[in-house]
Amino acid sequence: MAAATSARMPTLFLAHGSPMNAIEDTPYSRAWHALGKALPRPKAILAISAHWETHGVGVTAMERPRTIHDFGGFPRALFEVQYPAPGSPALAARVAELLAPTTPVIQDTQAWGLDHGSWSVLVHVYPGADIPVVQLSLNVDLSAAAHYALARQLRPLRDEGVLIVGFGNIVHNLRTARRGDDAQAYPWAEQFDAAVARALEAGDHAAITDWQNLAPQASFSVPSDEHYLPLLYAAGAAEPGEAVSFPTDGITWGSLSMRSVGFGLDPAATTAARAAAG
Ligand code: ZN
Repeated sequence: MAAATSARMPTLFLAHGSPMNAIEDTPYSRAWHALGKALPRPKAILAISAHWETHGVGVTAMERPRTIHDFGGFPRALFEVQYPAPGSPALAARVAELLAPTTPVIQDTQAWGLDHGSWSVLVHVYPGADIPVVQLSLNVDLSAAAHYALARQLRPLRDEGVLIVGFGNIVHNLRTARRGDDAQAYPWAEQFDAAVARALEAGDHAAITDWQNLAPQASFSVPSDEHYLPLLYAAGAAEPGEAVSFPTDGITWGSLSMRSVGFGLDPAATTAARAAAG
């Protein structure tokens, strides 16, 4: 039984924040490096990024997903970053099979690839870019509860060597953001971030799914839900009662939560990530 337990992959929600984390030495980039070294090596990664929203559910099914630079106003060096991890048509097909009872899944071989939500973090977690990555899109027509339910259907992947990772931010309000390392966090941002953390530690997934009622002014923290929903995929793929930990946290730019969440993550990996962040 020990072998089966150790073979089960944790699930993760990794806060990506500014794309500049991809090319700068920051507490977060250091934490992601440390996390990657401490994680078991997965056979493949299923990434749910805030930056791929579609009508219907799509999954990247190409052999060689391109690196998508889906942002503007950043230095040229960021546009030159490539993350040439292979894709996995086999994993894409398996995802479609698991989700088939509730939704058809479009096998995308053209439109998408890896967006910065995933690669800006993965360049640090797995710098070798040698683990296949498949992205699953966020269907904009689904409720939060429906996203969570889809994630539950993905649970078997964890016993098949697949690391399920949501990439987003629990608090993500760019309209109120104050760029700069010394920006004070807004009280509503701290409240919401803390409320999510408490609910996660209590294993209260109903509360995180019903996020509008989690804290006053929740809509300031989640003005649109695409950066929040990837958390529900990491949580939904977790088993009830599984250990929860926070490899990174903090609020940058006043209204951008950098809280990451591990479910079933080796405590040593969380400790290593937090120590690296300093
Ligand atoms: Zn983002």
